[in-house]
Amino acid sequence: MKNNIIWNFDNSYSRLSDAFKEKINPVAVEKPELVIINENLAKDLNLDFSGVDKNDLSALFTGNILPDGSDSIAQAYAGHQFGHFTMLGDGRAVLIGEHLTADNKRYDIQFKGSGKTSFSRNGDGRAGLGPMLREFIISEAMHNLNIPSTRSLAVAKTGEKIMRENPLQGAVLTRVASSHIRVGTFQYIAAREKKDELEVLFNYVIQRHYPELEHSKNKALSLLTKLMDKQIDLVVNWMRVGFIHGVMNTDNMTISGETIDYGPCAFMDIYDPKTVFSSIDKFGRYAYCNQPNITKWNLARFAECLIPLIDNNKSKAIKTATEIIDSFGDIYEEKWMNMMRNKLGLLGKEKEDKILILDLLTLMHEKKIDYTNTFCHLMKLGPKIDVLNEDKNFLNWKGRWRERLKTYNNSPEKYNKLMRNFNPVVIPRNHKVEEVLSEADNSNLKPFESLLKILRDPYNENYNITEYQIVPITNKVYQTFCGT
Ligand code: AMP
Ligand code: MG
Repeated sequence: MKNNIIWNFDNSYSRLSDAFKEKINPVAVEKPELVIINENLAKDLNLDFSGVDKNDLSALFTGNILPDGSDSIAQAYAGHQFGHFTMLGDGRAVLIGEHLTADNKRYDIQFKGSGKTSFSRNGDGRAGLGPMLREFIISEAMHNLNIPSTRSLAVAKTGEKIMRENPLQGAVLTRVASSHIRVGTFQYIAAREKKDELEVLFNYVIQRHYPELEHSKNKALSLLTKLMDKQIDLVVNWMRVGFIHGVMNTDNMTISGETIDYGPCAFMDIYDPKTVFSSIDKFGRYAYCNQPNITKWNLARFAECLIPLIDNNKSKAIKTATEIIDSFGDIYEEKWMNMMRNKLGLLGKEKEDKILILDLLTLMHEKKIDYTNTFCHLMKLGPKIDVLNEDKNFLNWKGRWRERLKTYNNSPEKYNKLMRNFNPVVIPRNHKVEEVLSEADNSNLKPFESLLKILRDPYNENYNITEYQIVPITNKVYQTFCGT
């Protein structure tokens, strides 16, 4: 391979002891074939793949050739899956290295679907083309919606079939994350009950993600508070755009605060707080409206791991950690209210704001109206929604909203700008995503690329986006599947 791809690897996690990982290379694939490369992200990482031969890129992004300086590992972690504690780990992924950019930002470069590891249990270690392209496009959409997320650098086919409900084309996704350390990583180490290992992980996290906490009085409590803050910001952002993660297990919650693991996730069309997409979520544990509660539940699991580091007196440690977790509700409420005020273009705070916001959501729910398009309607954009123009209750609500918009020196310029910054005009709607994935499976990447282009600019109407704003007319409950 030409040596013009300059990875700048410095593999700090693989230098930790064997408790944290298994040293393992990706398993070679039969017939590597690059499908897509994320040039925008490559640029951000100071990588230039433009002059590289396609065969070399195919070999690189399936793991058939490991770049110089890589030190490939599978990371150990555990997790509460739908409430049940399990030992997990990278069963179909390897971290090939940590890349440093010119401005010294550190990113994990991970292959997902790269073959079995000692953590694979009964899995085949592989991933399908559709699900990996799905992660590619949704993670790119999230990033451009200004929501922290892992990103996708490339997808390459393996030339091998994998067996799922139906046979799928195998593929490898190259995932880029500020790290892959999860709440589940802490759970794995905490379960080993060796305080020195827990301290190693804890100090590593402080150094890598939260160096500003280095000198705080009680670092463990500060980290808990900080992560809670980050995760509340994240879930408020998900609620803002109607995103439903689908599998908020503790192993799918990062310590960096980035959204991770786009499996059975989707964006809500018609507003219904109980919306669930995942076929395996029978009881709605991870429904849209439950996401804040689950975030809190996951943070409580994180707090449990930190107990030995909070205070030598266990009951005192539990008491202070519980106080922090108990403050979740108020912080969430405040941040959620502010987010909703922004969506409605409201300045300042009024006691009546909550009822104004809840009344709108109730109307949307009752009238079965699209969440994203309702806010577009308020901005005088997007498809025509007759019911919003005709319904007495809605018109009455609009009158109240207009009155509220007159307060705090607000003006059309101010509230339009605010609303345009918080309300996307286009989201990755399920039916569109499925449509482009099905074409991509038949080697037609054009529709995928068109959708990707639009999702890279979700707050603007720079393109003809009408077709992407339409809500599907179907009674079929959309389901995304796990075991992808
Ligand atoms: P996920 O549902 O992708 O968050 O994965 C949950 C756990 O199952 C992780 O430990 C994965 O590594 C593992 N896993 C998922 N799919 C496979 C597979 N095909 N082969 C091996 N392990 C897998
Ligand atoms: Mg996962």
